[in-house]
Amino acid sequence: MISYADYLQLLPKTELHCHLVSTMRPATLQELALRSSVELWTDDTDRLFEFGDLVEFLHGWRVAHEVLRRPADLERVAWEGVADAVAEGNLRYREYYINPQYFAHPATPGVAPMSYVEVLTAAIAGLRRAERELGVGFRVIVAINRRESAEAAVDLVREMIAHPFPEVVGIGQDDLTPENTEDPLRFAAAYALAGEHGLLRTAHVGETPSASPHNVRDAIEVLGCDRIDHGYRVMDDPAVLALALERGIGFATTPVSTTICSGWVLDPAHRIRAMIDAGLAVSVSTDDAMFFRTDLGREYREGLRAMGIDAETAKRIALTGIDTAFCDDEQKRMLRADFTAQFLALDALLER
Ligand SMILES: [Zn+2]
Repeated sequence: MISYADYLQLLPKTELHCHLVSTMRPATLQELALRSSVELWTDDTDRLFEFGDLVEFLHGWRVAHEVLRRPADLERVAWEGVADAVAEGNLRYREYYINPQYFAHPATPGVAPMSYVEVLTAAIAGLRRAERELGVGFRVIVAINRRESAEAAVDLVREMIAHPFPEVVGIGQDDLTPENTEDPLRFAAAYALAGEHGLLRTAHVGETPSASPHNVRDAIEVLGCDRIDHGYRVMDDPAVLALALERGIGFATTPVSTTICSGWVLDPAHRIRAMIDAGLAVSVSTDDAMFFRTDLGREYREGLRAMGIDAETAKRIALTGIDTAFCDDEQKRMLRADFTAQFLALDALLER
C-alpha cells in the first residue's frame, strides 16, 4: 500500500507551463556560470534561490540565461531537465517556453549570439534524445520576451514562420514588461500574425498583484489564446469566468510559484482550488522549478494536498494536462491510454 503523498508523487503527469532555462540543475547553473565567467546574483550559494517576490526572481532568471553560451549547453540542459522530472514526478509529456530573443542579444558584451535556428535546433536535439531514452513527449512554445518591444515580438513571429520546426507549435510569453506589468495588448500584432499562420497561442496573464481579470479577457478575446498561464484573476470577475468556461480555456497553473510571486498560502482557500471547483480546465506545472526549488512531484504531493484536493480531482488535473496540451490527437490518445492504465495500478495500491 502507498500513502496519498506517494500516490500523488507517482501519478503520471504532463507539464504545460515550464521555461526551459528553469529546468536547469542548480549544479549545472553553477558549473556553467564558472565556465562562462558569469557572476550569479548572490555569492551565497545557500541563498541562491531565496527570492522575495516576482521582480527579484526575474532578475536571477535573466542572469541564468547568460550562462548558456553554446548550443551544446542548451542540449544538455534540455536532456537533464527531463531526466530529473521523470525521477521526481513521473513526467510523461512536457511543453517548454524557449525565448530565442535572449540568445540573439546576449546581455554580456562580446558574447557571440545564437540564432533562432541554432537555439531551437539544440534544445530540440536534447528533448528528442530524452523522448527516445525516457519516453517523454514534448512540444515547444516560443516565448515573447515582454521586456522587448511589440515590434521585436512581431519579428520573432516572422522568424518562426520563416523557419518552421514540427516541434514548435505556438507562441507564449515570459518575463514582464519594463514597467513590470503584463500588458497583453502590447503584443496583439504578434499574436494576430501567429494566429494567421496557424500557431497556437497562450499568454501569461492574471498572475501579478496589479493584474486584472480584464487581462485574462484580453488574452482570450483579443490575443486569441487557446490556453492561459496562471490566470488566477479570472476568479475576480464572474463574466470573465463565464467566458473562460464557455470557451473551454485551459489554465496552466503553478501552485508553489504563487507562494513566492504572490505571497499566497497553499490551503483549501487558494485561488487554484477555487478555479478547479468552478469547473475550469486546470492543469498543474512548476513554471520555474530550479528557482522555486520545486519539481512536478512536489507540486502534486505538497501543492495539491495542501489545497485539499482528492485523488479523483488529482487524476482529473493530470488528464486536463493532456486535454489542453498543444500536441496532436494521436499523441493525446496514447497519453490517455498510458495514464488510465497507471491510474488503475495506483488506485489499487492507495491506502484508503
Ligand atoms: Zn511562466
